[in-house]
Amino acid sequence: MDIAVLGTGYVGLVTSVCLSEIGHEVTCIDVDKEKVKKMALGISPIYEPGLVELMTSNINNGRLHFTVNHKEGLANKKIIYIAVGTPQKKDRSADLRFIVQAAKDIAHNIKNDVIIVTKSTVPVGTNMYIKELILENLTTDLKVEIVSNPEFLREGSAIKDTFYGDQIVIGSENDGPASILEKIYKPFGVPVFKTDIYSAEMIKYASNAFLASKISFINEMANMCEKIGANIDDVAKGMGQDRRIGSHFLRAGIGYGGSCFPKDTQALVKMAENVQCDLGIIRSTIEINELQHTVLLKKAKERFGNLVGKRLALLGLTYKPNTDDIRGAPSIPISEQLIKEGANIIAYDPVGMEKARAILPKEIQYAGSLEEALLNADLAFILTEWDEIIEYVENKLMEEPVIFDGRNCFSLEDAKKLNVEYHSIGRPAVL
Ligand code: NAD
Repeated sequence: MDIAVLGTGYVGLVTSVCLSEIGHEVTCIDVDKEKVKKMALGISPIYEPGLVELMTSNINNGRLHFTVNHKEGLANKKIIYIAVGTPQKKDRSADLRFIVQAAKDIAHNIKNDVIIVTKSTVPVGTNMYIKELILENLTTDLKVEIVSNPEFLREGSAIKDTFYGDQIVIGSENDGPASILEKIYKPFGVPVFKTDIYSAEMIKYASNAFLASKISFINEMANMCEKIGANIDDVAKGMGQDRRIGSHFLRAGIGYGGSCFPKDTQALVKMAENVQCDLGIIRSTIEINELQHTVLLKKAKERFGNLVGKRLALLGLTYKPNTDDIRGAPSIPISEQLIKEGANIIAYDPVGMEKARAILPKEIQYAGSLEEALLNADLAFILTEWDEIIEYVENKLMEEPVIFDGRNCFSLEDAKKLNVEYHSIGRPAVL
């Protein structure tokens, strides 16, 4: 199939590369000229394990193309994916301005009947709005069909998730376009779940909200464990072994972040308000998560009195390991709180520092290595469970600084072998 993909971010680029890998001819269109220039040379604008290799091989075999020109990119395409960003407005609802522009770009440049496939996470009803918008802006009479195909990949394992995902959700008005999409995806061998458009849109929000609530649930239990002397690791393990509960997303920590869970849970609450529904569980999930971003600071203040002038190594800035994505990362609110408390922050992340510089407070200094970040530090916050950070702390056998582990990277048994004073989430401190 000859396919066009609008938007080459984490979702659009991975989708494009994987579709070209299974034999489709894919043209990626993005408005960001610098990004397109880099990608055409085989340079990925994002850090995603395995992506560059697949990208390069499909550029070389002539199946993967990049352009900033919508007219050229959309010419003769019968399948057009929308994978542009849907960030958050000030009122916390979904900002659809990139979606609206993408719909207009499509309408102004297509010359034949098309199937539009929306990968972006959009509020329920948006796909029908996209279709209307395209039809309104067309200058000739063409058939436009729309499919909601929400994305479930996880940054850091996006390629694997695309090839071996649990399912592909396809929401459509009738089976025609859904069957064509099913054919496109056949080589992945991933089960397809077909439904109506509204349900497909809702599956994405409900899934993210459920996973976020699982995290807030275990974090709330962790905070209680600290008060009663229980160990949240064992509690989570004991719960997770019950198959009705399952062991995933039961890891206590400083709360979820990223470019999806925070904005999607908030957009869902807004969406529900518009139809006079109150999502109490999701509202609490969000509130608990925001509070959880403050727990390391509270522990550090209890330990040190105050943090004025203290040298603090901030280890891990991305919202999770194996990605360079800083959007919505807990490192943002946590570093802002620490600056307010007067700490001197020296930060380190294996791949996220370039993007962090643009987002985190200007007062932060950046270290070229873990060793440099930890040199003469009074305390260290571990915010992301990167292997590099875990291995360094494990093998270096430092006596200082005092460690506040926001991701429970070490079992308490292993923490005892570290030689340092160690505080974590939902477990007794190791002194
Ligand atoms: P992103 O911000 O990384 O990328 C979006 C890209 O779209 C940018 O490169 C931007 O320049 C481009 N763009 C904007 N308007 C355009 C237009 N009119 N024509 C062509 N290109 C245009 O976004 P992302 O993280 O890939 O997310 C995309 C969507 O997928 C969002 O709705 C997000 O919620 C959803 N999603 C993201 C993830 C994830 O892990 N990042 C997972 C599942 C779903």
